[in-house]
Amino acid sequence: MLIDLHTHSRASDGTQSPAEVMRAASDAGLDVVALTDHDTAQGWGEATAAAAELGLDLVLGIEISTRFGSAGVHLLAYLPDADDPDLATTLDRILEGRNARVPAILERLREVGVELAEDDVRRVAVGTRATGRPHVADALVARGVVASRAEAFERYLNPGRPGYARRFAADLDDVVPLVVAAGGVPVVAHPWGRTARAELTADAFARLKEIGLAGIEVDHQDHDASAREQLRAIARDLDLVITGSSDYHGTGKVDHDLGCNTTAPEELARIRELADAARAARVAR
Ligand code: AMP
Ligand code: ZN
Ligand code: FE
Ligand code: FE
Repeated sequence: MLIDLHTHSRASDGTQSPAEVMRAASDAGLDVVALTDHDTAQGWGEATAAAAELGLDLVLGIEISTRFGSAGVHLLAYLPDADDPDLATTLDRILEGRNARVPAILERLREVGVELAEDDVRRVAVGTRATGRPHVADALVARGVVASRAEAFERYLNPGRPGYARRFAADLDDVVPLVVAAGGVPVVAHPWGRTARAELTADAFARLKEIGLAGIEVDHQDHDASAREQLRAIARDLDLVITGSSDYHGTGKVDHDLGCNTTAPEELARIRELADAARAARVAR
């Protein structure tokens, strides 16, 4: 039973359509796959139809951009009602922040002599409302400024590089209960990946659990063996769900092949039970 609970399509910054991601997941031998585009459920409809056709078990999710202290934290929301008004409002604010950031990035790039127009970005970000740095990277590749997304991030787009600009993200403390209220199951994505390790301590996870956090993505390419071991211990201690996933972005991210990390069936079963409970609590309210 192969279960991969974190993938991206062109509904955000993946390089394949939702249907193509489903096809790739099926070809990779996955039994269950979650589509978790950044800050949007836009790909759900297409993915649902494609998965049904392929006999693939699809878990609907959204990877929400949040802030926790000084760190950016990605929160995976599994099986929420995307039409929940509060969730939809928050996602709209985040998407607006993404759009507002694009001209800020382009302005900074101009200051170091890299000319890129908003149209260049729009051209490579077709079909998504969640425009991000990867699309700016693709535009830089298209213009021949860099050879790959990775090079664009290293030279221009990572924090501390000349083209970096911050954007709005919702408070993690607000989004965790918001996801539960929308009938979803919140799991922190790659907590010790790029930026948040100092903030997301065992104590922080304990506090987050009290406001509804359900799980931790332990097995992720951004975690080395020791980080995985420590995060697994924290999750076990707090009785949080443990997940593993690829964070597949098509050709947009190397070393994130479908199924490179997987989630145990009993952990997925817990996610589904928690989603059922969250939905039942919603109906009772
Ligand atoms: P943004 O959402 O615009 O802040 O951009 C963050 C996205 O960029 C995340 O989804 C990452 O997967 C992606 N990303 C970060 N670093 C790299 C990299 N070196 N190569 C490709 N994608 C990256
Ligand atoms: Zn991404
Ligand atoms: Fe992420
Ligand atoms: Fe992701």
